Amino acid sequence: MSKILIIEDENAIAELEKDYLELSDFIVEIENDGERGLKKALENDYDLFILDLMLPGVDGFEICRQIRENKNTPVIMVSAKKDDIDKIRGLGLGADDYITKPFSPSELVARVKAHLARYERLIASSPGHSNELIEIRGLKIDKTARRVYVDGEEKVLTTKEFDLLSFLAENPNHVFTKEELFREIWDMNSIGDIATVTVHIKKIREKIEFDTSNPQYIETIWGVGYRFKI
Ligand code: CA
Repeated sequence: MSKILIIEDENAIAELEKDYLELSDFIVEIENDGERGLKKALENDYDLFILDLMLPGVDGFEICRQIRENKNTPVIMVSAKKDDIDKIRGLGLGADDYITKPFSPSELVARVKAHLARYERLIASSPGHSNELIEIRGLKIDKTARRVYVDGEEKVLTTKEFDLLSFLAENPNHVFTKEELFREIWDMNSIGDIATVTVHIKKIREKIEFDTSNPQYIETIWGVGYRFKI
């Protein structure tokens, strides 16, 4: 599911946008302040930004400029004045689209979908972005960069934790015994035994699960082993 950040100080508008986007199955966050919005945009992973122009703290021009210096994520700018749109274009900030208030929420959703589709095609065809990704319900495993994100927030895993999680996620719905997992992830000469697997699963859950007593990703199959839920 795509994750969208709305930076908008008029809460009624932000909530309306959020409602419509959620109806189309997007995950939506709202930030009402420019400075906090910019920080959030730079520090987390989003698939698209909806950015109001006039904001307290840092304005939309500056936010767009800083996003572009760091990311290729699509930016749709929202403004109350048509004149501002000419100004945004003139500044060449690199926004992908512009909408003037008032706009129909369904128009916004249509544009969001179009930009996400275009961006996904762009990533798929770009040789610099050929990272092998596994994405399941908010969990993103970047196999190329060996990084793990939960809802856009990076989680730091050790080498073996990463290998174990990736292996399970690449083989979802398959129950592996602890012996099988130990053989797969640890080489024959490594010190340890199947208890090592249990310890690593516990550590992975502490890092990626919201509630470790009710795991959403790695399921324990009692008396057998573990399975990655899909
Ligand atoms: Ca505003």
